[in-house]
Amino acid sequence: MGRLFLIQFDQTPDAFLYLCAICETHIASWKEYAFAYHGLPNDTIGAIFHKIVNVYGDGPEQHHKFGDYTVEDVHCNKCGNLLGFKFIDNANDNQFRVGDFCLPLKKLLIWDGEDGGEMMDADTGDPV
Ligand SMILES: [Zn+2]
Repeated sequence: MGRLFLIQFDQTPDAFLYLCAICETHIASWKEYAFAYHGLPNDTIGAIFHKIVNVYGDGPEQHHKFGDYTVEDVHCNKCGNLLGFKFIDNANDNQFRVGDFCLPLKKLLIWDGEDGGEMMDADTGDPV
C-alpha cells in the first residue's frame, strides 16, 4: 500500500468538522453541510454535503441507483469504511445536486476543532 496523503482542515474555533467515526480522519467542514435528509432506509438521517475530502469512490462499474439518481459509494481514504455515496447523475429529480454527497450521520463524528475539545457522535450528539 502506498503512502497516504490526507487533508487536514485548519483548526479554528467554532469551525466544526465532521470526521470518520472509525479512524477520525477529517471528512468535511460544516461550511459544506447543506441539509439533513430523512429518507434513507431504517430511519437513518443523512447529511448532504457539497464537498468532502479524504474519500475514494468505487468507480463507474460499481455505480448503482438511489431513486432517480445514479450514485457511487464513497469510502474513507484511511480506514476504507463505507461512508455514504456521491450523486453522479439524475434522471429528472432535482432534490439533490449532482456532485453532492450523502453521508449517514451515524458514520461520522463531529469535532469542535479545538485540541482537547469536544467530540461527539454526529447522529446522537453523545460525547465520545
Ligand atoms: Zn476512516
